[in-house]
Formats: sequence, C-alpha cells, structure tokens
Amino acid sequence: MKAALFEAAHRLRVAQRSLRSLLPDEVLLRIQACGVCGTDIHIVEGSSRSTPPVVLGHEFVGVVEDIGSSVKNVTPGDVVAIDPNISCGACFYCRRGLVHLCEHLKAYGVDLDGGMAEQCIVKASQLYHLPAELPWEVGTFIEPVSCCVHGIDRASIRLGDTVVLLGAGTIGLILLQLARSAGAARVIVVEPREHKRIKAQELGASRVLDPTTDRISEAVKDVTGVGADVVFECAGTLETAQQSLRLVRRGGTVVFFGVCPRGRTIDVEPNFVFSNELAIVGSYINPHTFARAINLLHQGKIRLDKFFVERFPLDAVHEALASLRVGNTVKTVIVPNE
Ligand SMILES: [Zn+2]
Ligand SMILES: [Zn+2]
Repeated sequence: MKAALFEAAHRLRVAQRSLRSLLPDEVLLRIQACGVCGTDIHIVEGSSRSTPPVVLGHEFVGVVEDIGSSVKNVTPGDVVAIDPNISCGACFYCRRGLVHLCEHLKAYGVDLDGGMAEQCIVKASQLYHLPAELPWEVGTFIEPVSCCVHGIDRASIRLGDTVVLLGAGTIGLILLQLARSAGAARVIVVEPREHKRIKAQELGASRVLDPTTDRISEAVKDVTGVGADVVFECAGTLETAQQSLRLVRRGGTVVFFGVCPRGRTIDVEPNFVFSNELAIVGSYINPHTFARAINLLHQGKIRLDKFFVERFPLDAVHEALASLRVGNTVKTVIVPNE
C-alpha cells in the first residue's frame, strides 16, 4: 500500500509500505481522508518530536476492513475516526487522569504509522464511531476540534467575557465558535490575512484586526477598557506569544495554544505576572475530549461551511503541505483512495 513516509528532516516521500499482520487488539482501516496540519509541517522540518521512518497523518477517518481476534467495539464496514494519541495507562500521569501528559505518550502520524496512507493499522481502543449523518470530510475536523475543546476547558471562559484570538487559521476559527458557545460576549480576532479575517467575521467575530496596520493593544483597550478576559495565542509565533501578555486584563488568562518553535523564548517579567495576577496556561492535545468534539460537530455547533477545504491525492502530499504553508487554504485534506 502507498503511504506518505517521513524519513528524516526535510525528507518526505510517497512510498510503498507492506502491511504486517494484526495483533489481537488492532484494526485494519482503509483511509477515507486525512487532514494536514501545522504539526505535519513541523515534523517534516525536523522541529517536532517524531521517530522516523514513520507515515505522517494524525487527523484521519476510515472504514474498518479487518479486526484482530480480541476486538469487540468495531466490526468490518464501520466508519470510524481515530484519536491519534495513545497513553500507557500505567504511569503517574495516566493514573491521575492526565493522559495527555503520559510519560510514554505515542501518536499515530508522529511516532507510529498514521493516516496519510491507503491503509493503516490502529489500536481498536483509539476508535470512535462516526455518526452516520456526519460526512467523512467533517471527520477530519474531529481531532483539531478535540484539541480546541481542551483549550476552551483550560481557558475557563465565563458568560459575558471578552476573548481575543491571535491567529485565524483552522484552529482560530474553531476556537472562535467554541468561545462563543462557551458564553463569550465578544470575540476579537487578530489575523494578518484578509480572507481569514473575512471568515472570522462571517463566523461571529465581533471585531477583526489586522496586526500589520492596526494598533492591537489600543484597539483591545478601546473595546474593553481594561484588556481581554482571555487571550488565546493560536498563531504559534514568538511575536504573538509576547503580544498576548500585553492584551490580557489584570487577573485574566493567557492560553498558549499555538506551537511556537522549540527552544525559543519570550520576555516575561515575573513582577508583572505577580502584580497583575495573570494566569498563563498551556493547552496540549486532547485529553478525554474526542467524544465531546464528535458531539459538537454532529449537533452542528461548529459551522464548517465557511471553511475552504482543499483536497489532494496522496501523490500530491508535497503540494498539500506547501499549500498549507502559504496559508491560502483553511483546511487541507489528503484523500488517499479516490
Ligand atoms: Zn493536527
Ligand atoms: Zn502513561
């Protein structure tokens, strides 16, 4: 079977891979679609945890083709989404319920062969049935939505809050809708690309700002008088990470959601955090949020009609990554079996 194989930093190629036989708790899937995200770019650039050679792809849906001898939760023909993050169940963090902080965390598409392939072998315990009314294309949004649900949990938004989002890519536009669902009265979106600002407006942003021309701190102060209750950094740059600390009000919360480059730092004045009693929190992957993400998508709580989805065959994986890198598209999806 064909797969997008990450071999080493800056080396990704579509290659033939042979499938091993299934272990008792495993399932063979035929992949319907696999989302491409910023993490895939970081992996290919060599700036993210990964253990090559590995097949990329962690946002995927597929049809069950075969099951191992002890599998009970799915049968051949079932359409499923895959939670790519596998925790060990036995370490300190797993036993505290903090499965995303597992000391032995592994992920499909990062450490284990993932979904940018015609077929994939996964543990049955990672599978979730896709509701019949949910198109498989929507299924590729479950993983990113599950991460955003965790971000909203971490932000502790209260009814009537003002939320600032830095970055309106796929994640920003999902967080925008979830923040509104969570009760934010105002969501201000900061995004340099015009077509993304327009989408943000269409999806309910109360104000959109262009960081290349607008004075962001002043604009946020104008609206709120004091600063935002919650600021989400979801652009993954040092500039926006630094900026987030200037946009939050005293006693507010900053959520570092974007993936900033490893080993790089910003200036934080401890006395500023202390005297303004800021909460600076991280939000990492999707602990126990996969089923909630499916519910939200199934019940139409997240509008995807404004997302421009660009489809690529598996052979065009480089073009798919390039397109995402330029930032023209809002969601890039590989369809390996078309
Ligand atoms: Zn992703
Ligand atoms: Zn563990």
